[in-house]
Amino acid sequence: MAAPSITTLQEIFEVEKLSAEQEKAIDSLLAKKDVFLSLRTGGGKSLCYMAFPIFYEYSNSLDVQPQVLIISPLLSIMKEQTDLLASKGFTATFIGKDKSEDASILDGKYQFVFSSPEAILQNDKWRDMLSGSKSFRLFVVDEAHTLVHWGENTKHGQAFREWFSRTGEIRSLISCPALVITANASKEARKVIKKRLALNNCVDIIDSPDRENIKLFVQKLKNTVPIDETFGWLTHDLSTRKKDCPRTLIFCSSIKICADIYTAFLMVLDNSVMEFVNMFHSCTSENVKETIREDMNDDNGNIRVLIATSAAGMGVNYKGVNNVVHYSPPKDMDSFVQQLGRDGSQSLHLLLYNSRHTHKLEADMKTYIENKDKCRRLQILESYDSLPDVELVKHLCCDICSQNCNCSGDCCELYQHPYFLFQSDDVSSDDNSCMSDSTDLESDDVLDIDDTYPELE
Ligand SMILES: [Zn+2]
Ligand SMILES: [Zn+2]
Repeated sequence: MAAPSITTLQEIFEVEKLSAEQEKAIDSLLAKKDVFLSLRTGGGKSLCYMAFPIFYEYSNSLDVQPQVLIISPLLSIMKEQTDLLASKGFTATFIGKDKSEDASILDGKYQFVFSSPEAILQNDKWRDMLSGSKSFRLFVVDEAHTLVHWGENTKHGQAFREWFSRTGEIRSLISCPALVITANASKEARKVIKKRLALNNCVDIIDSPDRENIKLFVQKLKNTVPIDETFGWLTHDLSTRKKDCPRTLIFCSSIKICADIYTAFLMVLDNSVMEFVNMFHSCTSENVKETIREDMNDDNGNIRVLIATSAAGMGVNYKGVNNVVHYSPPKDMDSFVQQLGRDGSQSLHLLLYNSRHTHKLEADMKTYIENKDKCRRLQILESYDSLPDVELVKHLCCDICSQNCNCSGDCCELYQHPYFLFQSDDVSSDDNSCMSDSTDLESDDVLDIDDTYPELE
């Protein structure tokens, strides 16, 4: 590629050089091809569009300043990215930030313009701007899995954000290559996204969703087990080790479940210990969210247990989390993989659920929790048409592989989850009827909405 000097990239983006994936993505976009980029969090996906104008300027004679349009699902991400770009000397804004900036956006004054599908499609002003513009050179869809999971009507009701399924209309307004970005999209989701955005002859750059540092556990609970008992291992650990308790993230599928767990902790723990516990969902106030983000961005932050919904999972890089628990599974595999945890040090993942939590699940998530004999890692990878990067020692892989480990090493037992070490045998269910006893649905569970994103309404 005709490339800007490495010093330019080093100075602006603080990287030694582009990764092979980043280079391939930018090259393909400059050749006017669409790119589907699925790299894990921390894989440098946003650099591909942030650096695009620089590369574009090097390989084209310019009459106008090239602009980039980014469709993003969350205001918090738009804010974060525009601040980041501004700190690197670019001009960036998002539609709806400040009405007084509208004229400048219309005049093409910004190199980077962020927006949501509904903001553009519901307003002729922006539609006209895009269809009349000659300066947009790149169309980016960030967190693209939301196109599928938020935009679709389900048998349980209307789509959460219907406009997301119409992101393709925006694509049709501007004629430039598209960069579709996600941390993970199962093979089914990839098909849907490509169809919705009319991506033909698209260059796929997909890395494996395998997280070989995470050992996977699943446990079904009886409906009668109270939450404080389920989390006895954790509240016990918190009261004894306090600030030294390993950092644990608990994901729940609704705000209600989130609040129930927090209340259970509140009942069991002293105030002096509760200062290490916090809660994060879409109705958490912006101030508190900001405090939590800052704390969790520090390895040695005060929060040792964060009880959260999917609202905490997107675009956020939590530091020092060695322990992720799902209490109730998310409804699809993409959300699950996104919340599972990050690359890095050895960590544990535990999925806890009871039959009340299983009624809205998509097929591959249902298979994951019902599975009793297949390696859990292989099962996740199958949803992505992917294979493991490395072969793992069985006791590091999952609870099912562990049972067949014959390494005879002392370490074999060290990788048991604290939940199982703490529980007495009679607490957890050992029946084989994973999905069969869901007749006792409680109406408030059924009516729970997933906690996604009310911030734009
Ligand atoms: Zn396994
Ligand atoms: Zn072993």
